[in-house]
Amino acid sequence: MKVFMQWDMEGVSGIFTREQVWFWEEGVRDHIAREGRQLLIADINSAAAAAFEAGVDELIVCDTHHGGGNIILDQMLSDPRITYLEKSRGYQDGKFRWLPGLDDTVDGFMVPGHHARAGTEGAFLPHTWTLEWADFSINGQSVGEMGIEACFAGHWDIPVIMMQGDEAACREAEEQFPGIVTAPVKRAESQDLCSGLEPESARRLTAQKVAEAVENLRTGLSKPYTPALPMTVTIRMVSVEDAEKAAQKPAVQRIDEYTVEAQVERHCDVVKWILETGLS
Ligand SMILES: [Zn+2]
Repeated sequence: MKVFMQWDMEGVSGIFTREQVWFWEEGVRDHIAREGRQLLIADINSAAAAAFEAGVDELIVCDTHHGGGNIILDQMLSDPRITYLEKSRGYQDGKFRWLPGLDDTVDGFMVPGHHARAGTEGAFLPHTWTLEWADFSINGQSVGEMGIEACFAGHWDIPVIMMQGDEAACREAEEQFPGIVTAPVKRAESQDLCSGLEPESARRLTAQKVAEAVENLRTGLSKPYTPALPMTVTIRMVSVEDAEKAAQKPAVQRIDEYTVEAQVERHCDVVKWILETGLS
């Protein structure tokens, strides 16, 4: 059994402040950013160990937060069964693509460390890909990053089996992916602040949920996220200028002042029309 773990960071155990995770912003203190990274690394190591314990034979761990570059290889669980992707884009078979290694050899897709979609009330750092997008939808259903990634994995019919994050992000996952197992490790106090389980307990909960998800995969309980094709993908931008710019791209239609839309034929093209990110 081969599992792809797509790690974001906002939903990681013990990350409770914006400064711990949006480290590129002005005024962030080094030691706080370092603390955030250490929490991410500890979470990955613990979840990977739990996956093997539950019977996973092969694991791809992808660091996707801010494009990647947050993990420190010599601090990661060293195991020949793990492939680490330090960035979310790279080469596979000589071709540059998003999430290399995600293909029909993968049995299950996990989205730990994730956050709720743009505009979610009562969520910690809700957003969808960039702060310039007010809403992203597929066939009229508003989805967040976990939805975009799960749709990409849907190209190979890979079920999305596990999610970890704040309570709002877990609700989003449960509404969107029937049968998914979630690990709610915190709750938003405001958009920039949350509180929750101390990291050790949060990691224990996450490990338990990883095991449950692997069990569901084994028994066929989990399903891929595969919206009907062709898909209509719509983005409402925060600014008119961004909508104008996006509408210049080939085959992109302007729907109104703020909104652009495209039709795509494959699940793996969910963001390719706008970001050039996907498969070739
Ligand atoms: Zn992130």
